[in-house]
Amino acid sequence: MSEVTRLPCWSDWKWQQQNSVTTLEELVGAFPGLACSSRLEALRNALDTRRVSLTPYSLGLIQTDAAQRPLEQDPLWAQLIPEFAAPSPFEYDGTTENWELDHEMVTGICQHKYDNRVIVRAANVCHAYCQFCYEALRTLEIRSPKPGLKKSEWQATLDYLEAHPEVEEVILSGGEPLMLSDARLDAMLQSIRAVRPDIVIRLHTRALTFNPFRITQALASTLARHQVTAVGLHVAHPRELTDAFFTAVRALQRAVPLLFANIPFLAGVNNHLQTLRDLCMGLYRGGVTPHYLYQFMPFSPGHSRYAAPASEAISLLRQLKRRISNLAVPEFVIPHVTGKHTLPLELGGPPTRIETDAEGNEAIHFTNWKGQACVFPQ
Ligand code: SF4
Repeated sequence: MSEVTRLPCWSDWKWQQQNSVTTLEELVGAFPGLACSSRLEALRNALDTRRVSLTPYSLGLIQTDAAQRPLEQDPLWAQLIPEFAAPSPFEYDGTTENWELDHEMVTGICQHKYDNRVIVRAANVCHAYCQFCYEALRTLEIRSPKPGLKKSEWQATLDYLEAHPEVEEVILSGGEPLMLSDARLDAMLQSIRAVRPDIVIRLHTRALTFNPFRITQALASTLARHQVTAVGLHVAHPRELTDAFFTAVRALQRAVPLLFANIPFLAGVNNHLQTLRDLCMGLYRGGVTPHYLYQFMPFSPGHSRYAAPASEAISLLRQLKRRISNLAVPEFVIPHVTGKHTLPLELGGPPTRIETDAEGNEAIHFTNWKGQACVFPQ
């Protein structure tokens, strides 16, 4: 344990936020070996347009070499520090939305993409910035063109919920909704409950990786008081599963009925069997269901750096399915602009299909984990 992690302020989420590293000079201060690194100039250029922010906690997770340079392949460094790699035809252009279609935005912050639920962009900021974010226009752009959480936008969102009883669920997402203060979240949840006492409330967060101290007892009580049903944790690598992460998990488990995890599938971070195994088993052991493994979304930043083939994810998940409980194996989804789509874990061989024979009997034909053709009669 370093001296700084022993300070009482270390586990104060506001202190973590206020002491985040956001400039090149501060990064060099944290990693002195960077000063004589060939990466310095590229980093300076990247920071001109992209938001970068690392809490002292997330800085502490990054491993360094003997010269106090961050290891290039460190999973936290790889996620949080921009790097403009080779151009790709599917690269983000810094201006075009890839996920929030205009006709889905029923208010500036409320997206009605799926039939029975809406996503509310409760904040355009985060504890730290994932350089592959598919909400990049909101989060990574220093001069974000997206509207933020204003009183008028929030009232318009409440009016929409009140007028649309077919909306059965509201998802507070972002950015990072837990960048808001407890008082603000409390007021927002209360106002949702005032217009829609029946609605399911879900919240998505990456705070447990970047600032797990955000999960205070007061926050947990607020979520419980307003009957938040589910919290989705976003996580990418087993090194994020620290003691502090699980302390936060346990606090949430006492307050919220359902905890699950969404995992972005990222080249150089988690496209590896043992890494995915450790991540999924670690979450499952802690009582968090690994729910989705997300394929990289085209036209998000860092395509040539982060996108790994979908066939690789399918192959890894098929192998996982033979090795660990199905409860610990996430569903593989592609975030298509029309909505997420689950891919079957099929590789090679003909796809699963239902066939009817001459007598009218149906049978399911599929390829098993050994690659053998199988028939399941009805
Ligand atoms: S925390 Fe979430 S919203 Fe924020 S940059 Fe990362 S992926 Fe995007």
